[in-house]
Amino acid sequence: MPDPSSETGADVVDVVIVGAGPAGLTAAIYASRSRLRTVVLERNMAGGQIALTDLVENYPGFPEGISGFDLTQKMKEQAEKFGAEMREIEGVVELRAEPDGCHALVTDREEIRARTVILAPGVEPRRSGIPGEAEFIGRGVSWCATCDGALYRGKTVAVVGGGDSAVEEGMFLTKFADKVYLVHRRDQLRAAPIAQERAFANPKLEFVWDSVPRKIDGTEVVEALQVENVKTGEGRTLPVNGVFMYIGQIPNTTWLKDTVELDEYGYIVTDGLLRTRIAGVFACGDARANPLKQIAMAVGEGALAAIQAGRYLDELDSPPGTPATAGESGAGAQQ
Ligand code: NAP
Repeated sequence: MPDPSSETGADVVDVVIVGAGPAGLTAAIYASRSRLRTVVLERNMAGGQIALTDLVENYPGFPEGISGFDLTQKMKEQAEKFGAEMREIEGVVELRAEPDGCHALVTDREEIRARTVILAPGVEPRRSGIPGEAEFIGRGVSWCATCDGALYRGKTVAVVGGGDSAVEEGMFLTKFADKVYLVHRRDQLRAAPIAQERAFANPKLEFVWDSVPRKIDGTEVVEALQVENVKTGEGRTLPVNGVFMYIGQIPNTTWLKDTVELDEYGYIVTDGLLRTRIAGVFACGDARANPLKQIAMAVGEGALAAIQAGRYLDELDSPPGTPATAGESGAGAQQ
């Protein structure tokens, strides 16, 4: 591939990847190994949501499980080994198409120009919005059992939600807390059957069915969670020292709303080759409208997005009438 900087200016990189979770880091491994000049924008720390997960049991290759932090650190190391450059930012505020076909990404720190962009911004935990939630952040309200669980040794906590995150992180919290209430708005969990079986067998977990959180009480720190039974209307006060909210996730895509297409929930819409409606801009991972939010899925999408970005560049750089070259980024040269 010809040196793109000779045509478009030395400050233009081949690919900027927004997000350093499993999708973004895998895209970085593939892009940098294809000798594309690759910059990864990471917010706070590499790994995304999964870096906050105590134990990943269903990612192939780790029969004993691996911590989310260790897994994503290894992915980051691998991307850097092939030359990907990591840049820490607080956030991206704008994606802008340039007249010369490049894309400008405006972050809180700088403006970067790139020939292609891979969007892998991931998701963040949904907030319930109940009174006390915002007030007690860091004083008993948390979205990260891995980070904060050890603070609740010998105490009582509530976990809200019935999905994989609530059940798995609730189980993790029983390592520290004497008692964990699992508050779910229905009488059936959404979590995977294996997680449910373990949870039902755990004597430290008490299920509070058909109930939604209404208010978090306390003075200096959290002292209680008020819940309401949605079938009977009855209220109950759970005496707890901490509340962990796992009621789903929202994609980090607000900044994209006037550029790429988003679905009604804010997830990025692409075609099957992960192309957004903007030429040269691809999307992958949990923030993409896809049916499975799993690391294995994110990793596969990250690889495909990088390959597609490489093919797009090959086509741009091929003189008209000649077939695009096929390096690792090109057709038929993958392993
Ligand atoms: P999720 O699957 O969307 O579950 C959210 C839970 O919160 C649901 O049980 C939902 O109830 C409940 N909920 C939603 N809004 C609520 C509200 N306003 N008030 C009270 N409860 C509310 O979210 P998640 O557990 O964070 O998982 C996200 C994705 O990551 C899923 O695809 C999940 O499979 C995946 N994940 C996988 C693993 C793993 O494979 N080990 C681990 C973690 C996450 P309903 O059930 O009634 O809708």
